Amino acid sequence: MSIHDFERYPLTFGPSPVHPLDRLSRHLGGARVWAKREDCNSGLAFGGNKVRKLEYIVPDVLAQGADTLVSIGGFQSNHTRQVAAVAAKLGLNCRLVQEKWVDWDDPVNDKVGNILLSRIMGADVRLDPAGFDIAIRSSWEDAIAEVEKAGGKPYGIPAGASEHRLGGLGFANWAFEVAAQEKDLGVFFDTIIVCTVTGSTHAGMIAGCAALEESAGGRRRRVIGIDASATLEKTRDQVARIARHTAELIGLRRDLRDEEITVLEGWAGDRYGIPVESTIEAIRLSGRLEAMIIDPVYEGKSMAGLIDLITSGEIGRDSTVLYAHLGGQPALNAYSGIFD
Ligand SMILES: *Cc1c(COP(=O)(O)O)cnc(C)c1O
Repeated sequence: MSIHDFERYPLTFGPSPVHPLDRLSRHLGGARVWAKREDCNSGLAFGGNKVRKLEYIVPDVLAQGADTLVSIGGFQSNHTRQVAAVAAKLGLNCRLVQEKWVDWDDPVNDKVGNILLSRIMGADVRLDPAGFDIAIRSSWEDAIAEVEKAGGKPYGIPAGASEHRLGGLGFANWAFEVAAQEKDLGVFFDTIIVCTVTGSTHAGMIAGCAALEESAGGRRRRVIGIDASATLEKTRDQVARIARHTAELIGLRRDLRDEEITVLEGWAGDRYGIPVESTIEAIRLSGRLEAMIIDPVYEGKSMAGLIDLITSGEIGRDSTVLYAHLGGQPALNAYSGIFD
């Protein structure tokens, strides 16, 4: 088996754009930084990384004859918004459990941004007071059971589409897409920086890069996950498990080495979804130097990590770095107070 043997239901515009961040690179005075833009990857409600994962899950949804997608996330979940978008596009119903993952005191936190978009796209949005947890939740299992009881055919998609057997394939394929773009552009990204929370984005990249290295006798590169969960051990375990599972699915003939699974902490703050000073600085810097908008929950934290790793010299001056921009800007609307 290889990644190319899995059915993919096209939801993206094609390869997501890759471009250099010249002003940011000059400002940091170290490695050359590029971005690959999952925030510009599709026509579905502002896109994002979950669309890629869903491309490999939709064939299973259709094969099972499901009529309702059931998923879960925080009030400002990008994932549930992308599930709602895919459901709308396919003509399916969508039931969403939106938990209070983030204790953020903004009066419109459950009204604007992602949750607003999900409501516009016709999802049945139900609020739940439970706090943050990336594990399988009983509220989600209950929602699946309720859809079934009402005569529907539910298809459950867990938080971030990560605890799904096919959840890592989207970003394994992303790695192959990067390799093709490198060939066209005449560059090699020795370091990839990615935000990680539920884990299958980072895990898929690790598996894909390992498979590329094996198939093409290719060069090694580092895929560095920046934790934004503030529950590091859970996220690291989940990344390792999904990476190994995905590597096996796509036919890697060796075990992943421990050093291939790198999740760094230091930029998440104390709690998921709460921006800290370095997050806000990273958002401003990226906006002022590149007009590249990033969010306070995910990408602001991975960008803060990139900034520190380059300015400290941990990523060397001769490196060429690819920053994976995974989307998420709609959530900014629920955080308007931080830029007053
Ligand atoms: C979901 C998400 C992430 C984290 O991806 P995981 O696969 O859950 O680790 C990062 N950034 C954005 C914008 C997201 O929506």
